[in-house]
Amino acid sequence: MDPNDIHMGTLRLVRRVTADGELSLEEIWDLAQYLNGNETAQHKWPGNRLWRQLERAYEDGEISPEEHRHLGDIIVEVEEACAEISTGATHIEHRIDLASIAVTDLKLPILNQTVLQEPRDPDTEKYALDLRNHTCTCPDWFTRHKNVPQGSFGRGCKHIIRALGQAREDGEPITKQWDPRSAKLVSLIASLELGADPLAHWQHAATPDGGAYLGWDNTEWASVFARNHENQYEHYGFNLEDDHWSYGESPPLADFVSAYLKHKA
Ligand SMILES: [Zn+2]
Repeated sequence: MDPNDIHMGTLRLVRRVTADGELSLEEIWDLAQYLNGNETAQHKWPGNRLWRQLERAYEDGEISPEEHRHLGDIIVEVEEACAEISTGATHIEHRIDLASIAVTDLKLPILNQTVLQEPRDPDTEKYALDLRNHTCTCPDWFTRHKNVPQGSFGRGCKHIIRALGQAREDGEPITKQWDPRSAKLVSLIASLELGADPLAHWQHAATPDGGAYLGWDNTEWASVFARNHENQYEHYGFNLEDDHWSYGESPPLADFVSAYLKHKA
């Protein structure tokens, strides 16, 4: 594929919303909204594959199970195409020196607060959040986050993460009182308007070359927040079973991150 035919913004968004291997209805709306406001993206790959399907859904305001399934198929096709583009990269087995790694366990901060949050769709009910036990009344929390152990980052749906990121005490961001690494992960996930991937274990692991925020479980996909080649934090997905990065895109620290995750998981 000619790289000029690829719309990187769309690809980044697709990768972001599906890094956990799932495509929720809310994520579909995020994609539809992005493409609706960006005509170039509608006409370039992979937006041109998605928009035809999304436009109809966007117009009638409904995503049928069949449309949902079809969009999932398109996403799989996009991911396969990306993996093909990125193969050919040499893979060097990376050894890690565990003694040189600084590890911080990350915990979802606890606040003695309950909060009501407005959903994007004004017709649906407000979500009620409990920031002490990390519960939310949104469907995503019930389907994906509910069974993650208390205190784990993976319990945070996007509403919980957003509410923690916005919390203030006497006008000051309350994040200042938290462990700085956990506070940073809250703000990273909140700035991407994501929830945490529903994984039980979360750590920050650092080498002298830099660090990354990592989530994993006994499932296929691990969640990675690391700096990209522009030195900005980005969300990546790493598949622990067959050692590949979601959409073939990996951070500069990929060798360290994959070796560390495989050692842990
Ligand atoms: Zn929620």
